[in-house]
Amino acid sequence: MNKCIAMAIRIISLGAFVFLMIIGKPMLWLIIFGASLILSIFFGRFYCGYLCPINTIMIPVDWVARKTKIQSDKSPKFLKNGYLSWVALIVSIVLMIVFNKVLKISLPILIIWGVIAIPITLFFKPEIFHNLICPFGALQRLFGRLSIFSKRVEKDSCIGCGLCERVCPSNAINVVKETKKAEIDKSLCHQCTECKDVCPKNAIKYSNTLKNNHKEISE
Ligand code: SF4
Ligand code: SF4
Repeated sequence: MNKCIAMAIRIISLGAFVFLMIIGKPMLWLIIFGASLILSIFFGRFYCGYLCPINTIMIPVDWVARKTKIQSDKSPKFLKNGYLSWVALIVSIVLMIVFNKVLKISLPILIIWGVIAIPITLFFKPEIFHNLICPFGALQRLFGRLSIFSKRVEKDSCIGCGLCERVCPSNAINVVKETKKAEIDKSLCHQCTECKDVCPKNAIKYSNTLKNNHKEISE
């Protein structure tokens, strides 16, 4: 997808999110998120790549962090087991219920996580927040791994140059040492097309992964 169109979709989506917050309907956004989880079984994690207001905020923050070179390549050790995003999800749900039932207030949970994402993205690569911290990402990973349509590398065309790895915001694509071919983990893939745009061999396609897996097995 053209970068300008992708950014326009993100900005429109961010505008819709802000509008729903201003008119006091945060639950409507959570319904959109819920629908995106179901759709991710068919089309992958497009919510993360295009609709998520947190991701749209993270893109310019990441750009600033890269330019100022304050971002670290390392990830904190305590995050590596990946449990924190699930803890974050449970804490978020409990807080939302408590605020709703006891204080009769809708907790703006997405805004809170958006604010948390800013300093994390300034000091660590965006994949740290996407894959290890974000509670919404935890659910998207779970459903995204089942996706029927997703980005996929055509092994015959891939030359293992690694350009795709460098631009991926979620560390979803990696060149496997043994085969020297890139592979995509669809549970992490945001379907953003950054990798596809830089691939010199046009080896990355959006296609039916079940059909293609079947083809590979029978070859
Ligand atoms: S950019 Fe293309 S050719 Fe290079 S490793 Fe990635 S998929 Fe393979
Ligand atoms: S693998 Fe490609 S499409 Fe998926 S998140 Fe990474 S850059 Fe985006």
